[in-house]
Amino acid sequence: MVQRNEIESYLDTLLEVGRFKDYGPNGVQVEGRAELRRIVSGVTASRALIDAAIAEGADAIIVHHGLFWRGQDGRLVGWLGERVRRLMAHGINLFAYHLPLDAHPELGNNAQLGMRLGLSADARFGEQDLGFAAPAGESVSLAALAGRVQAVLGGRAPLVLPGDGRSLARIGWCTGGAQGYFEAAIAAGVDAFLTGEVSEPQAHLARETGVAFLACGHHATECFGAPALAAHLADRFALEHRFIEIANPA
Ligand SMILES: [Zn+2]
Repeated sequence: MVQRNEIESYLDTLLEVGRFKDYGPNGVQVEGRAELRRIVSGVTASRALIDAAIAEGADAIIVHHGLFWRGQDGRLVGWLGERVRRLMAHGINLFAYHLPLDAHPELGNNAQLGMRLGLSADARFGEQDLGFAAPAGESVSLAALAGRVQAVLGGRAPLVLPGDGRSLARIGWCTGGAQGYFEAAIAAGVDAFLTGEVSEPQAHLARETGVAFLACGHHATECFGAPALAAHLADRFALEHRFIEIANPA
């Protein structure tokens, strides 16, 4: 058993929360009971995840996507009110870590995805150094990289926007909705860039710069950070932990 406040201050330091300019608050977003024994991790604080945590008898949920984002009007009504009401009614703490969890060099989404792809970052790029870049090892083809991604992401085939057909010596990646980092990745000298989402401009940029772009799924690329972080906590503070996957094709 461990105090909620002890976990929050430990994570504050571990994830260097104060270093980031983020789109929402990092740390405890909804306060539940003060003592934690059992934690659940997931990607997004959706109603399905909250209901699963209630069924688990969890004292806390650790997610990458919390409930509160810049630009919201602040009212706890409708679907948002329902999520908060369920957490509070069951005394469940909600811990959310967004950019600090993308960036952590060992437990973060980028590091965990890179590890599974056999990529070990030797450079960072983009806003707040959130992009990771690594040598591909022996040069690989785009098709081979796409196949490796598909295998790592549970069979989900990435959307591939080919570049100029070069073999890939350096790979850049940033999980989630980081399609806007494509130009920074190109400037960092990568031959292919992986992220979760794609928008219209990336197809043209890939054609015109020769650098390939792979959209691998926002959810799919961000499935690894929260459970790695929660498993680390479970280990360190002798907590029970379970990752709950709530399927999301987006
Ligand atoms: Zn995300």
